Amino acid sequence: MSNVRHVLGISGGKDSASLAIYVKTKYPTLDIEFYSCDTGKELDETYQLIKNLEVYLGIKINLLQGAENSSEDPFDHFLKMFGGYLPSSSSRWCTKKLKLDPFEEYVGNDPVVSYVGIRGDEQREGYISTKKNILSIFPFRKNIWSKDVVDKVLANEHMEIIEKDVRDIDFGCFQEKAIQTVSKKVTPSFSRTEKLNTLLDCSIKGFNHLVFAFLKTTDYPLAGEDSFPLTDNEDVLVRDDIFRILKESGVGVPAYYNKIDFEINGKTGQYARSRSGCYFCFFQQKIEWVWLYEQHPELYKKAMTYEKDGYTWIQGESLEDLIQPKRIASIKNGYMKRMQRKASKNKSPYLIDILDDEESTGCASCFI
Ligand code: SF4
Repeated sequence: MSNVRHVLGISGGKDSASLAIYVKTKYPTLDIEFYSCDTGKELDETYQLIKNLEVYLGIKINLLQGAENSSEDPFDHFLKMFGGYLPSSSSRWCTKKLKLDPFEEYVGNDPVVSYVGIRGDEQREGYISTKKNILSIFPFRKNIWSKDVVDKVLANEHMEIIEKDVRDIDFGCFQEKAIQTVSKKVTPSFSRTEKLNTLLDCSIKGFNHLVFAFLKTTDYPLAGEDSFPLTDNEDVLVRDDIFRILKESGVGVPAYYNKIDFEINGKTGQYARSRSGCYFCFFQQKIEWVWLYEQHPELYKKAMTYEKDGYTWIQGESLEDLIQPKRIASIKNGYMKRMQRKASKNKSPYLIDILDDEESTGCASCFI
């Protein structure tokens, strides 16, 4: 019997929620443990999403908390430890203490396959644990393997290993091309990315089986497994698919994505929150702070109470200044202009495509 654990983290965002539905439905034989790292400062919509997933999928989502024996919420506990120093994009102690450390403690030293919901239309890697016992898999992407694995498989010094394997693996009508590609060294004029893409274009399944065969020569978690069902996965899922999966499953799209109308200077605009995570997350845009103030005033007030001793959530502006009527009007006006400019270029029906072109720069553990 396999001793590999399969884990999937729910951040409260749309992508990890739809990954849970996708993997549970498509690979029912995988014994997956679901978890969510609770900062104690999530929106109610996030806790609701977790409940919906538990009900619709008949699963239990383990809530992991940093400092679980503390009498305070995890965030407040660590804020005290950091002397009231608020986290920021350049000092993200919160991600480490509230997300990564509880996750790594949860998996311990067991061999683990961790499923991550980065989509096929995104260009980012996400959090890759540096722990050797954790192998990240990205089922929504054409290339399901993490960068460290691909780098090893396609390294010139490992060419001999995969040259042997490629002949026994079915690349369909591109068999010869796959054999030739595997035997071509990575050089300045033939990059690793080109090699990867050429092999994926020959056959996604073929490439997956090639990687799986290579892993047997390593100490990665899948090394001792006879099979891994995702080697046959050829799906590539993009944003439309994510929303479709959530709607069709009955779990629903997290409510904070719903567009809400606002009026400014006789014009109607629309805003929403573009991501999950703590309600006071410093990654949010100013229009999202306005959304928080107008839609969840009690949470905005709580966020304000954290601003003391010169620390603010936004560099150079306090939350008190941000809600002055003139300032709100200027943020809404600026945002509407930006929306109009982007809407003319971007035909996407989703507000978050327009609101959030910073999505890929945020924190993968918090927002996927
Ligand atoms: S959501 Fe934002 S504030 Fe909360 S842990 Fe993640 S990065 Fe930090």
